[in-house]
Amino acid sequence: MNLQTITLVSFGYFEKDILEKTADAVMEEYHCTVNIESGHLDLSEYYDSARRQYDGNALLKQVHSMSFPESDKNLGIFNVDLFVPILTFIFGQAFLGGRTGIASLYRLSNERYGMVPDGLLMLDRFKKEVIHELGHTLGLIHCFSPKCVMRSSTYVEDIDQKSVHLCRNCRSELEI
Ligand SMILES: [Zn+2]
Ligand SMILES: [Zn+2]
Repeated sequence: MNLQTITLVSFGYFEKDILEKTADAVMEEYHCTVNIESGHLDLSEYYDSARRQYDGNALLKQVHSMSFPESDKNLGIFNVDLFVPILTFIFGQAFLGGRTGIASLYRLSNERYGMVPDGLLMLDRFKKEVIHELGHTLGLIHCFSPKCVMRSSTYVEDIDQKSVHLCRNCRSELEI
C-alpha cells in the first residue's frame, strides 16, 4: 500500500488532546503521516429540521469537494448527530476505496446514554470509528473478525467489543 498522508479535518470545536491522540492512533495503524487541519463550514446548511440531525451524505460530499493537495485520504470529523436517509443515525461513513470519509464524536460519549462520563472510553471509541472509516477509504469492507476495527458497529456497545486495530486479514489485504 502506498499511503503517505492522511488528513483529519475538524469541523467545530474539538479538544486538542482528542485530535492529537486520534492522529497518533491513525499514524500507528496505517504507518503514514497524519495532518490535522481545521475546516470551516456553516453546519446549519446541513441541518435537517424535521430529523433534528445533520445530513451525512451532504457533508461527505462537501468534505470530498475540498482540496487537500498533499493528502491521500481525508476524514472530516464532526461533533454533531449525523444521519443518512435509511438509518436512524450514523457514527460515520466513507467512500469505499475513495479519498474521503467522515466521522462524528456526537454519539460516542457515555453521557449521551445517561451513563457516567468516561473521557478515555469516548476517545477510544472515536479512534476506532476514525480508523474504521479510513479503512473503508482504503477499500476495506466490513470484517467478521470479532476484534477487528473493520467490524460493523450499530451501537457504542459494538464499538466497545472491538479493538482499535485491523485484524491480520485486513492488514494483509492492505499489505501493511
Ligand atoms: Zn463501516
Ligand atoms: Zn478484519
